[in-house]
Amino acid sequence: MVTMPRYEYLDSSAKEENPTIIIGKNILLKIIKDEKKQVLLSDPIVKEFVSIPNLPNNSIGLMVDQLIDQDVYLDTPPLLRNIIANKDRFEQSMKEMEVFMKLFQPLIDSRFAKGYEEVIKFEEEKAKGMAEDKELIQDLFFRVKGQVDEKFVRTYEENLLSISEKFEEKTGVKIIVPSNLFVCPKCKARLWDKEIDDKKCLSCNSPINQSNIKRIPVYRVQEGIKSIWKSGLWFESYLAGCLNKLGYTTWTGVHVMGASGILHEIDVVAIKGGTLVVGECKTGKVSRNDVFNFYTKIGDTKAHFSIFAFIASFPDPETRDFVKRNPAIIRLENMGNRDAPEVLSELEQGLQTKA
Ligand SMILES: [Zn+2]
Repeated sequence: MVTMPRYEYLDSSAKEENPTIIIGKNILLKIIKDEKKQVLLSDPIVKEFVSIPNLPNNSIGLMVDQLIDQDVYLDTPPLLRNIIANKDRFEQSMKEMEVFMKLFQPLIDSRFAKGYEEVIKFEEEKAKGMAEDKELIQDLFFRVKGQVDEKFVRTYEENLLSISEKFEEKTGVKIIVPSNLFVCPKCKARLWDKEIDDKKCLSCNSPINQSNIKRIPVYRVQEGIKSIWKSGLWFESYLAGCLNKLGYTTWTGVHVMGASGILHEIDVVAIKGGTLVVGECKTGKVSRNDVFNFYTKIGDTKAHFSIFAFIASFPDPETRDFVKRNPAIIRLENMGNRDAPEVLSELEQGLQTKA
């Protein structure tokens, strides 16, 4: 027997992407979508990525982190690269500098030093002049950005390709795509988007256009994936995918008008028949506040079920016990250390529990 959905769209005059939905007799739900997020999630590679069955597992997350690291290195100027490569020594010398400053504080406080500060103030006009000197500024930009070294780019691309191969073996999904690094034809500095838009290199002032720009073809992590990985949107979309598998219609990263008239940001909204589910997803550390804020949203949206989905775990046993008392709250904890089928069956069982 096919059960008919017991919810319907109200006011046909409203935009289709921001529907008002009536669930059963008592719940009126106004959903407001975030168009930027919708566009991101509709990309075919992103769709494939968020449907990787074991995506929340730490072993996969680690590989995505590594891929994005290599991708960032491709773009990093030599100056920063050297600091990263010598990170430990850099931190050590910053500490030594702190000690040095403390030791010399009495001298810095001396009347002589204060007088010297006055001299520097007097030189402020000179400093202003320097800030307006185009040649000096160009030189600064050039030193910050440095020259693109193709050999170096190839090294990081090789790393990227080798991690990507392992990732593809494990998940069946390829998340790197062919792209280009844009370089100034004259000074060989990496070009920023703004420079390309303004058609002028900030480091050497030469004109840039589509025909003279130097392109270095290189594989990179697909832009949409970098963006959903950073924002955590991938996890919301993943949970929505699990609920789709259980027959729910879902919305990801939307605002929902609660009974109080207040708009709440809800990570996942799911509806099946007359049942409303709201989900909260956390990829990083979870705080008590996160838990209690979501509690308010659950009450105000009058959801039948709610889900806490965490890669890690509850902040402390007391918070977990507090949540445990409510059988309509499904706790999907430690997803980073578990396998997809186990999580999915726990979710399915939770949604069958009578509230
Ligand atoms: Zn240039």
